[in-house]
Amino acid sequence: MKNSADPHTHAQVQPRRPIQELPDELISQIAAGEVVERPASVVRELLDNALDAGSRNIVVRLQAGGVRLIAVEDDGCGIARDELTTALKRHATSKISSLEELERVVTMGFRGEALAAIASIAEVSLLARTADASHGWLLNARFGDLQAAARTVGTTVEVRELFYATPARRKFLKSDSTELAHCLEAVRRHALARPDVGFTVWHEGKLLEQWRACLQDDVDEALAQRLGDVLSTDFLADSLPVRREGSTVHVWGRVGLPDAARARADRQFAYVNGRYVRDKVISHAVRSAFEDVLHGHKQPVFALFIDLDPARVDVNVHPTKIEVRFRDGREVHQAVRHALEAVLATPRAGNAQQPEGAFVPGANISSAHGAEASFKAPITTEHLPGFWAPAEEQARSFMGQASFQPQAQPWNDRVGNEVRDLQALWRPSPPAAPAPPTQQADHWPLGRAIAQLHGVYILAENAQGLVLVDMHAAHERIVYEGLKQQLGVQANPSLPSQPLLIPATFAATPTEVACAETCADTLAQLGLDITPFSAQTLAVRAVPTALAQGDAVELARGVLAELAQHDAATVVQRAHNELLATMACHGAVRANRKLTLEEMNALLRQMENTERSDQCNHGRPTWRQISLKELDGLFLRGR
Ligand code: ADP
Ligand code: MG
Repeated sequence: MKNSADPHTHAQVQPRRPIQELPDELISQIAAGEVVERPASVVRELLDNALDAGSRNIVVRLQAGGVRLIAVEDDGCGIARDELTTALKRHATSKISSLEELERVVTMGFRGEALAAIASIAEVSLLARTADASHGWLLNARFGDLQAAARTVGTTVEVRELFYATPARRKFLKSDSTELAHCLEAVRRHALARPDVGFTVWHEGKLLEQWRACLQDDVDEALAQRLGDVLSTDFLADSLPVRREGSTVHVWGRVGLPDAARARADRQFAYVNGRYVRDKVISHAVRSAFEDVLHGHKQPVFALFIDLDPARVDVNVHPTKIEVRFRDGREVHQAVRHALEAVLATPRAGNAQQPEGAFVPGANISSAHGAEASFKAPITTEHLPGFWAPAEEQARSFMGQASFQPQAQPWNDRVGNEVRDLQALWRPSPPAAPAPPTQQADHWPLGRAIAQLHGVYILAENAQGLVLVDMHAAHERIVYEGLKQQLGVQANPSLPSQPLLIPATFAATPTEVACAETCADTLAQLGLDITPFSAQTLAVRAVPTALAQGDAVELARGVLAELAQHDAATVVQRAHNELLATMACHGAVRANRKLTLEEMNALLRQMENTERSDQCNHGRPTWRQISLKELDGLFLRGR
């Protein structure tokens, strides 16, 4: 038995003290530990209050990254003289008065603890004037003295010397510049949620940011303007609007194109009923919407607003209110995912707006190329398989069907009949068909193929200028989407399997062995036969035909690990996609393959009609537009 003298005892055993209630100040300081982590937390709380007060313009002044001073000045409703002292009390709020109101709360604040918590760890003063008062009142929180002061209607909260009363916490702060960056991020989060409110930030007397209120009625336009101001106009150019009105959940905002994804997750703004949140359901939904177009560790960029009945979300989960709990996480997940997928799946080439007065290719040079191009090839099945054959054969063997038709998607009518004809080019046709009608070619978003470069790129001309296509990347996506679609129509999807001549055995963990036994059906669906060989050995007896060349053991291990983690249904869905992607990669046209113009054109038309065709399966872009203006720039040609 150890006694208190033992140097190895971690805590000295103290005689038990009687239970007593903690002093108010200490309770607030404990609460402050949860609410106020750093200056940025104070900025967040004060901005919440200013917005709740109906402000139109908010000014934030900082010194030493907010450690020395945070002052937030607003033009909201102000605080009446005799409520000033109450505002600083713990659990004192004007925002809710019953449990029922808590459950449907729409204001940013409601816990009534921020001002009290902040006042317990810093020097706080409140200066406020309401509309019916002839002047303002200044309250010094430390000494409790109240004096008349000049001020327009609104409130100024000053917070000086943060953590002066709790020096231990002050030691956790980073450099002033780091704290300043966090403060700015807090302002940014609020500013994106409220384009209708003006924000100004000063640091050490220098103007850092100023975002004017956007007073448009159109919320999308207002958001776009604010995003441009706050995050740069690049963000606007590389993003698309999102809008999905569901029966219970509305999702809107803007999402960055896959190309705009970043190494860090520093441009991800999610809001639930106007409140900035960090939420697993939302981020998972975003990730899954990007799954097929963004690979590796790239972080998508977005500002998404999820609006739903306040009764369907619990905001009282976390003291800082940064986390929420949805009553039905699935409906939110689906709404976000579908809203984003709708934007990301649509090929952008098909939506490209023709600039007004744009140069129209073909008007004067069509004869130079027209004779070579064939867009009206007859649909035949007898012709030798050519360019597209590998994909098609893969698809056929994979599907166990006699023919594979690439998807004919009715959702893009713009290219209409030509495309349906062109889909015949999945099977190549003999050359020397009639020249394409010029007007039709003018309307092809990705233009008319004119050449192949180094066996890697296709060059095409469209109304905007030059289009460059990475042919392997583009074809890989087309084959992949085709396979996915085919799989989707099968009633009972499963991958064709091929037995191994010699089973591949490997030393397995007890979890792997157990998993192989319990998930035998799922494995069979995936084309895998993995059976116990001994108590610690598994034998892979069959693998998916398409992956017969791969490392059977590695594949088996990967699938078992996935199966052990998730429920079988989602694994089948995801693994299918991964396997299909691998197959597509093998099936897609390789570099250094000579293509005829008609093959190139067929590929371009397929791209225009294939979902997600702007990215290959690995998230890289498949095509780039080089405008005539950019080309002119290269030659210093004034236009
Ligand atoms: P909560 O915001 O949760 O109500 P706070 O401690 O942040 O709690 O604020 C307490 C109260 O002080 C608020 O309910 C509000 O009535 C008042 N208040 C705080 N800041 C402002 C402000 N900028 N303008 C008007 N009233 C304010
Ligand atoms: Mg508050």
